[in-house]
Amino acid sequence: MPKVLLATEKPFAQVAKDGIGKIFRKAGYELILLEKYTDHADLVKAVSSVDAMIVRSDKVDRQVIVAGKNLKIVVRAGAGYDNIDLEAASEKGIVVMNTPGQNSNAVAELAIGMMIYLDRNYFNGTSGTELRGKTLGIHGYGNVGKIVGHIAGCFGMEVYAHDPYIDKVLIENDGIKYAGDVKDLYSRCQYVSVNLPANDETKESVNYDLFSAMPEGATLVNTARKEIICEKSLLKIFSERPDFRYISDIAPDCKEQIAGNYEGRYFFTPKKMGAQTAEANINAGLAAAKQIVNFITRGDVTFQVNK
Ligand code: NAD
Repeated sequence: MPKVLLATEKPFAQVAKDGIGKIFRKAGYELILLEKYTDHADLVKAVSSVDAMIVRSDKVDRQVIVAGKNLKIVVRAGAGYDNIDLEAASEKGIVVMNTPGQNSNAVAELAIGMMIYLDRNYFNGTSGTELRGKTLGIHGYGNVGKIVGHIAGCFGMEVYAHDPYIDKVLIENDGIKYAGDVKDLYSRCQYVSVNLPANDETKESVNYDLFSAMPEGATLVNTARKEIICEKSLLKIFSERPDFRYISDIAPDCKEQIAGNYEGRYFFTPKKMGAQTAEANINAGLAAAKQIVNFITRGDVTFQVNK
């Protein structure tokens, strides 16, 4: 009987755990729970006897990988997987997966919600502005970007997208205008939603050159990693353009400088909130469980990230 460890420092909601339990019971697997642990050694110990593991933001470092003597698969219930040592896993032939797309709607709703919050002056009782009729650029037309574009379209925004890895026709089929050049996207759009992955190509790639191209009323909305934004450029544009605003799911490192000088022109979540919904939580947990069953029963490696 395959053994699966559900290792979550921050446990799933009960409804998600019930669903995960049901999937594994049906498959005839044993589910072992390790929750709210405070010592990394507990994870190292618990992984030693299992075939598969589901984690959230838990740190799966080389020590954990090496301790997993029977471990064949680790699934990160979520989009990012930088908490897992992929190199160590690959060396041991362990498959690592994420569950892409399961929290995208939650992130997209937050992006739009934060735009409205800032446009309505933090709901402070004063008159604000509307999204309808404004231009929005989607920088990275993946799972999140696509939904942001769809919702924005429903709000009556004119939506553009730039993504060199997605076919122009696919973008246009969604009723979105295609921007082949990234600077063209920023120069057309009053709002830009950054939905890029963090990698060597994208880190600090959203910079002064792009900010300064934006038209009057420029608002940058970042629900991706903060490293994608060049903070030096951010401070420069804030100081030069009184119309420039920045919204981010998690504050930049230069938060104090922005907060101290540019009141009313920014909003930062106090902690990363994009995927923090009951629905996203359940979706990601169930998807992780199904992916493990599909992998063990028929070797399905869809969503493997360490190929
Ligand atoms: P995704 O992989 O589905 O989409 C990313 C898109 O960016 C892809 O379509 C890809 O082709 C495109 N892309 C890559 N490099 C590009 C480049 N240089 N220029 C333009 N486009 C480029 O990812 P996703 O699920 O849409 O998530 C996007 C990002 O959002 C993630 O990488 C993650 O960091 C972040 N995220 C944040 C939260 C949160 O809680 N705030 C939750 C989930 C994801």
